[in-house]
Amino acid sequence: MSDFKYFSKNGQILPIEQATIPLENVEYSYGFGVYETMKVRNGVVYFVDQHVNRLFKSSEIIELIHSYSKEQIKGYIEDLINKLRSESENAEISCNIKMLLIGGREPLLFIIPLSPLFPDRKLYSQGAKTITVHNERLLPNAKTLNMFPSYMAYKKAKENGCYDALYIDSQGYITEGTRTNFFAIKGSTLFSPPLDKILEGVTRTTMIHVARKHGFEIQEKDIPLSEIDQYDDSFLTSTSTRIVPIRQIDDFIYAEIPEKLKELMAAYDAFLKESNGIFVV
Ligand code: PLP
Repeated sequence: MSDFKYFSKNGQILPIEQATIPLENVEYSYGFGVYETMKVRNGVVYFVDQHVNRLFKSSEIIELIHSYSKEQIKGYIEDLINKLRSESENAEISCNIKMLLIGGREPLLFIIPLSPLFPDRKLYSQGAKTITVHNERLLPNAKTLNMFPSYMAYKKAKENGCYDALYIDSQGYITEGTRTNFFAIKGSTLFSPPLDKILEGVTRTTMIHVARKHGFEIQEKDIPLSEIDQYDDSFLTSTSTRIVPIRQIDDFIYAEIPEKLKELMAAYDAFLKESNGIFVV
């Protein structure tokens, strides 16, 4: 649901009521599209370059041909934010932005502002409950509209009072959450599943940068579900929720959130504030 009055379609600002998908668009019904979710807080669009780059990478992976340039899309986002700002009593817009690029002979590019959902603070102080689900995402490096397994897994998580479901691949390794990246932590080392098996999250990338600056070591390796008790804790990252510590995976409960993870969470929040939405390596 959107509380906002306008959206952008192929670069044109239109009333939100017109944010509809034509049913004759066969590509949409086959899920032939890619998308991004970005965060806008107090007028600052976070990591727009990284999100637009990933939109392009995702469309390349699924061979979705379109004629937009990155600069054009960034301009459309800016136009939309300016329009929302001019219409709002509060000049500092906060919302999430969904970009949807649907393939076909005439690709459709929607940029839609959505009301942000702010997670319960307890999630950060107590940690999240998660369940596991067997699933391997098709083309894991792409963020595509092939969302049915994700929808079902997330629904199952919610029905079980969980924050998210973790995907387990055919070899018993944890890969990622339905909309989150997974990490395990031991001392000052962070372990991530190998990049070729997951989506390269923008939060993952920026968090790794912050972690390295704060003396953490990062290792990519397969993390078997059967070995989660060998780590101090694990956690999830995503644009809308930042770093969320995990308290429970199925029946396994971590004793506590380690101080090192609390340190990293604080460092990442500080980085977000200072970044002004820009990340340059
Ligand atoms: N992994 C998957 C499968 C996702 O769908 C998402 C986001 O939707 C993420 C990870 C986290 O990515 P980001 O940090 O860019 O939000």
